Amino acid sequence: MRRLRKIKIVATLGPASSDYDTIRALFEAGADVFRLNMSHGEHSDIAERHSIIRQIEKDTGRPIAILADLQGPKLRVGVFANGQEELSEGQDFRLDLDDTPGDATRVQLPHTEIFEALEDGATLLVNDGKIRLKVKDFGKDYANCVVTVGGTISNRKGVNVPDVELPLAALSEKDRKDLDFVADLGVDWLALSFVQRPADVEEARTLARGRAAVLSKIEKPSAVKNFDAILEASDGIMVARGDLGVELPVQNVPPIQKRLVRKCRAAAKPVIVATQMLESMIDSPMPTRAEVSDVAAAIYEGADAVMLSAESAAGSYPIEAVSTMNNVAVEVESDPTYRDVINASRGGDKQTVADAIVSAAREIAETTDIQAICCFSQSGTTASLVARERPQVPILGLTPVMRTARRLCLTWGIHCVPTGEVGRFKEAVLNAVAAAKSEGFATEKDQIVVTAGVPFGQAGTTNILRVAPCDDRLIYPQDQND
Ligand code: PGA
Ligand code: MN
Repeated sequence: MRRLRKIKIVATLGPASSDYDTIRALFEAGADVFRLNMSHGEHSDIAERHSIIRQIEKDTGRPIAILADLQGPKLRVGVFANGQEELSEGQDFRLDLDDTPGDATRVQLPHTEIFEALEDGATLLVNDGKIRLKVKDFGKDYANCVVTVGGTISNRKGVNVPDVELPLAALSEKDRKDLDFVADLGVDWLALSFVQRPADVEEARTLARGRAAVLSKIEKPSAVKNFDAILEASDGIMVARGDLGVELPVQNVPPIQKRLVRKCRAAAKPVIVATQMLESMIDSPMPTRAEVSDVAAAIYEGADAVMLSAESAAGSYPIEAVSTMNNVAVEVESDPTYRDVINASRGGDKQTVADAIVSAAREIAETTDIQAICCFSQSGTTASLVARERPQVPILGLTPVMRTARRLCLTWGIHCVPTGEVGRFKEAVLNAVAAAKSEGFATEKDQIVVTAGVPFGQAGTTNILRVAPCDDRLIYPQDQND
């Protein structure tokens, strides 16, 4: 199976998408990465979804990335006896520490830190800022509020307190337990919520002990401020526009998105643009024109991936939402203007041998009739560098490391193929030719470009480029010492 677009699609799983058939349909519609949200669901649900995805991987023969999103110091209300309530403007609503399910007058807010740091008149924003509560009076275990903007409030919705600085640790006790649990399950990516400083990322990386790659969600003003150091410490980034647009004025989000996407591409680290991309498709089979434009804008910017949240996790049209993203991507990526924009935003400085090789690979492929760039990669470094070039031809990422194949599912344009271990470049070339043909990217008559870092197994040593024919001419006896 082969995608007809370069940008990747991340689909969040939830109650609307928890059985084999639905997850498989999401995958076939275009989801490359599945996101498990640790803020919802028990460990047993998470383990079940994880094993369904691995089963689909087996059944389709395609690597799939799983991203576990840790709740982080995200503040959330508790649950409601009826699952949800309508709040109307002007009514009173109380938040407290009592875990009795809530009703139309009160709900639990299980965070003592908030009550300790509150101020009279502070605003609490619920559900990505859709509902606003103003604090009338408060004590160490409650806050009586008046609803200034009403709406539907439901189980475990997020709460932001932009006016108040809260002394919160990067990883809660729950996050540590969740991290260990999902890392042992074998997820590929850990997403860290509300990262504020590079030390937060380093702490998670230490706890992950190499079991998963670490992705930072940028959703706090301090993360935007410390972005360069956070990017350096992270394996990937998510522009988490939901909380970012609540913590900062909403009009600041688009320029931040553009800047972050550009920096991630320059660093050859994958970046996801997330939240409200097709929000109206939660209850409509048809997106708004503005949403389609938003997805298109992320694609024109050169993001590695676009993400669905509630659209695929809890909406009525999860599969249609994935198809919509897929269709927008196919259309945008075939627009000549898209190519112009992508080419114009390519970083110019070729400082290292690796930079020069991946750039040459793209130029050779694009100025001749070469069908694909195949990169042999253990750690994924060579493949990521090729992806940074944003070439027009397909990129095949060949790797003997299944974990690398899965992680690279998040990276722009890479079609990963797990292969056997190779000792020599010659073997890598033979594997690349075989994969390009069997995966439908090339025929006997075609040629491909192959890049790798030799000796194999050392990250960051991209140093070989070869143009290889896909027929028997490849078998030269004098290549024995390659
Ligand atoms: P969340 O993160 O969905 O976990 O809140 C994404 C965002 O804030 O945009
Ligand atoms: Mn968030």
